[in-house]
Amino acid sequence: MRFDVLTLFPDLIKNVLSESVIGRALKAGCFELYTHNIRDYSEDRHKRVDDTPYGGGKGMVMAAPPVYNCFCSIPECENRHTVYMSPKGKILTQKKARELLNYDNLIVLCGHYEGIDRRVIDEIVDEEISVGDYVLTGGEIPCCILIDCIARMLPGVLANEVCFEDESIFSGMLEYPQYTRPYEYHGVKVPDVLLSGDHRKIDEWRYSQALLLTEKLRPDLL
Ligand code: SAM
Repeated sequence: MRFDVLTLFPDLIKNVLSESVIGRALKAGCFELYTHNIRDYSEDRHKRVDDTPYGGGKGMVMAAPPVYNCFCSIPECENRHTVYMSPKGKILTQKKARELLNYDNLIVLCGHYEGIDRRVIDEIVDEEISVGDYVLTGGEIPCCILIDCIARMLPGVLANEVCFEDESIFSGMLEYPQYTRPYEYHGVKVPDVLLSGDHRKIDEWRYSQALLLTEKLRPDLL
């Protein structure tokens, strides 16, 4: 899968997605990531990309032409989809991220300042996605959240599919509690069942713990 990110801050995207599991997967070629600096497509001699809003009001609005020119620089691909990270969008869920796996090329547009001229959003964007009911400074962090969430479901990124299918939300519940060495920590021991070697019992215990946790913390999931 190929991701193309349209942004004013490409380093934000590259720095975040070049680390850890996702960074290693990127280096290994499990997916492709291209960042495009919208400023490079400004036709203004000072490379300006924003202007004051029509009708007045605070802040600046990203102008349509550089965004459109930047979008047009991305090679055509039959099975592609363009997403605008926006607090006005539908909230990102695991289900949505799974749906987006079906595209060969996902183009992600990141806004800044007061956002982007509506005309270019209407022209190039297929879908707006929000990472939650709050407003951030720019679309770059939401974009990294979206790409991380999708990329970790791609073949080869995690050790095997169970790694993500087993996790909170994906399974429809919150994940059971996890423990590792030492066996005793600050006087609290690891539950005996996890040392029993009886995998049926361990699965049952994990299921019941997952159910308890979900009932307590996220009953809306059940
Ligand atoms: N004035 C806009 C509004 O009220 O809808 C908010 C602009 S926000 C300060 C700047 C950019 O950050 C947006 O264009 C968007 O790309 C991004 N952004 C902010 N909050 C977001 C969220 N919850 N989810 C996704 N993107 C967000």
